[in-house]
Amino acid sequence: QKQEWAKLVNEQTTTKDSHHVELAANIGTPKDLEGVIDNGAEGIGLYRTEFLYMGRTELPTEEEQFVAYKEVVERMEGKPVVIRTLDIGGDKELPYLDLPKEMNPFLGFRAIRLCLEEQDIFRTQLRALLRASAFGNLKIMFPMIATLDEFRQAKAILLEEKDKLVADGISVSDEIEIGMMVEIPSTAVAADLFAKEVDFFSIGTNDLIQYTMAADRMNEQVSYLYQPYHPAILRLVKMVIDAAHKEGKWAGMCGEMAGDEIAIPLLLGLGLDEFSMSATSILPARSQLLKLSKEELETFAKDMLYLDTADEVEQRVREAFLK
Ligand code: PEP
Ligand code: MG
Repeated sequence: QKQEWAKLVNEQTTTKDSHHVELAANIGTPKDLEGVIDNGAEGIGLYRTEFLYMGRTELPTEEEQFVAYKEVVERMEGKPVVIRTLDIGGDKELPYLDLPKEMNPFLGFRAIRLCLEEQDIFRTQLRALLRASAFGNLKIMFPMIATLDEFRQAKAILLEEKDKLVADGISVSDEIEIGMMVEIPSTAVAADLFAKEVDFFSIGTNDLIQYTMAADRMNEQVSYLYQPYHPAILRLVKMVIDAAHKEGKWAGMCGEMAGDEIAIPLLLGLGLDEFSMSATSILPARSQLLKLSKEELETFAKDMLYLDTADEVEQRVREAFLK
């Protein structure tokens, strides 16, 4: 099997019925690029920039960030690179920011909420991203968006920083796509409203599942509720993809679910355009996708939305595709 996968490193991901999907990688630092390139990723679907801020005693400077972002887009040689702005808070703390302890950190002051409040931190990161955009195919994505107003504010700040850089004669790409994570149920349910204003969606199932099922993703005792194949989750995923397509936008997924062999046939059938996963999952996923037909899966996936339980969905996928 390893040998079969190795042959697929330089292949496109095209299904049996000639439908192309993009298989991208999730990374945390530029050091991860080697594995990404060795495993034939067609892009980066999620660069978690938090790691630049962690394990140190002060904020990274604009220059430090610029160097890291530039390295990633350059080494990807024009392939798409989706960089997510700072998603700190929740399970990821930054001791030097001295944030107050919260009762419910996963429902608290984190990610875009923090960035819109602490604008110096946000603007520094945005400037570094904008400068790096001149060196490759960089896309910017905001995490933990709950309302349209947050997306608009974040985008407005980004465009302000862009105008300032351009006025200073610094080159910035004019083709940066600006998207958002869909990881809060409000944005999946109202995806049609968001789709009019974003360039793309990336579904963050790690959080979307925890918030939809009200089950902490780190708590073993409630892990039985953490059900990626639950029809409620599949329906939300479908709403997001359909809303994006209706506005001519693309929809990806960068949660763990995107690389899961049970989920992959369902996601293909629901029309997902981009699957972003850990580098080691890319070749197995490509091998699986090459043998599937999107058209056949469309009906199958829709049927799954009406089963009673996640277990039944899993069983049906296993019987049909994983024997
Ligand atoms: C997600 O929530 O699915 C996601 C990709 O983000 P993170 O795992 O970093 O919260
Ligand atoms: Mg998340």
